[in-house]
Amino acid sequence: MEVREHNGTSFYSYLAEEKLMGSRCESCRALHVPPRPLCPACYGNEMSWEEMSGIGELIAFTTVHIGTNAMIAAGYDRNNPYCAGIVRLREGPAISGQIIGVDPSDPESIAVGTPLRATFLNRGDDSGNFLAFAPVD
Ligand SMILES: [Zn+2]
Repeated sequence: MEVREHNGTSFYSYLAEEKLMGSRCESCRALHVPPRPLCPACYGNEMSWEEMSGIGELIAFTTVHIGTNAMIAAGYDRNNPYCAGIVRLREGPAISGQIIGVDPSDPESIAVGTPLRATFLNRGDDSGNFLAFAPVD
């Protein structure tokens, strides 16, 4: 995912503060998560940060047995798959993230429509926080 910045602060530095932020277009009020420096709806470039609730629901997912190098380094492989999903936030936009608290070895146990809440994971290295979602209790 490309790092997109405006106002001198990035989406990822907000993740480090455990904040999920979107950008609101000042011209047409469209909301973008992850933030965009240029509005694809009206081409406006006046954006303001807006903090998301982190609440949403699972709209699509896949289980990944052969992941990216970063996920392999984190211990995921064909014997320890992970779930990657698309979450529709309560505020409207959809964003991808790892889905934790589900059983990726049993995909049929994972349901579209599951209510989720954002959580912030850290691999314990210098790569910073990344976004994940877990089922709401
Ligand atoms: Zn716009």
